[in-house]
Amino acid sequence: MSFESFNFAPAVMAGVRACGYQEPTPIQAQAIPPILEGHDVIGLAQTGTGKTAAYALPVIQKMLSTPRGRVRTLVLAPTRELACQIAESFRSLGQRARIRECSIYGGVNMDQQIRRLRSGVDVVVACPGRLLDHIWRGTIDICGVETLIIDEADRMFDMGFQPDIQSILKCLVQPHQTLLFSATMPPEVRKLTLETQTNPVTIQI
Ligand code: AMP
Repeated sequence: MSFESFNFAPAVMAGVRACGYQEPTPIQAQAIPPILEGHDVIGLAQTGTGKTAAYALPVIQKMLSTPRGRVRTLVLAPTRELACQIAESFRSLGQRARIRECSIYGGVNMDQQIRRLRSGVDVVVACPGRLLDHIWRGTIDICGVETLIIDEADRMFDMGFQPDIQSILKCLVQPHQTLLFSATMPPEVRKLTLETQTNPVTIQI
């Protein structure tokens, strides 16, 4: 399997090359085709497997054909460190596709995040609590989200984010594709997939 087999646009392939990726990892080989086809996906994979690019690349490809400058992809992550890593992946993989991203997490002043959001971003990578702050203050509009990604879903529950996630889900009004990644599948994560996904394709590596 090669990256050419996904028929990515030249701008997406430029991102792959800029990151120095030679061939897809197993999670990428299995997850990219169903994500491109529009399926909801459950990815059972640990950090270090290439799972971020497994969703970032097809999502960047899909964003090439919808209008820019509004939040079309929302990634939920349990920690600031993970949110920053994911945002960095979108930045490097999406640079040639002119994708603009913003990471949202607590413990820092909101003003810088608000300025970045106002400048028009395509991808928001957020920790749940701070995202809700922005939603309640009206400093982010997530009504146009086309793809929701819940990363490290099991850790989200371990860290007590379940109520925040439920509140965020209520704000996502338009139909969207939902991708959920988790290292394990405890009952509460299973329940979340039933609540948020339709006929998901499960990939386990
Ligand atoms: P992740 O599991 O998303 O945290 O990725 C782990 C590391 O693998 C990151 O440093 C990625 O840049 C790298 N990586 C992702 N996909 C590939 C690939 N196809 N080839 C080589 N390295 C990759």
